[in-house]
Amino acid sequence: MDLGSVQSEPEAAPEWATVPPVLTAPTCHATGCTERPLVQWQRRLTPMELAAEQAIEQARRDQAFADRDIELPPPGFGPMPGPQDYVHAVLACGPHAIDMDAAARVHQATCTGPDSANLPLCDCDPEPLPAPAPQAEQKLPAHWAAAVAGGAG
Ligand SMILES: [Zn+2]
Ligand SMILES: [Zn+2]
Repeated sequence: MDLGSVQSEPEAAPEWATVPPVLTAPTCHATGCTERPLVQWQRRLTPMELAAEQAIEQARRDQAFADRDIELPPPGFGPMPGPQDYVHAVLACGPHAIDMDAAARVHQATCTGPDSANLPLCDCDPEPLPAPAPQAEQKLPAHWAAAVAGGAG
């Protein structure tokens, strides 16, 4: 037996050797700007970002199904979240901030804000604000209304 001819298999890197990504402080999303963000708004996801989110959701569902208690009914999942279910936070420093009214709305995935030369606006047509929830008019009870109308004394 010739021990000298034994070839060692190339070993996969042990789990502890894979270094997690270093967490860095977020910066302004304007191209080339490294300022600390001061404001943020939301935009929809690009098709690639949406596919990545849905892959994460699918993996979560697969795991939940694999981990299910087989004596119970299988876990029910709703429809896969779509484009309207996700937003991406856009961060900006003061000089790169868009208008406050525009920042209240959800922007298109293709929005280039805050990189646009259109500051303090952007180059997309943001989604309209959701309609305010209808509020039924309420009346004070009589003993409160009398106190308010009669004043103290
Ligand atoms: Zn900036
Ligand atoms: Zn926009």
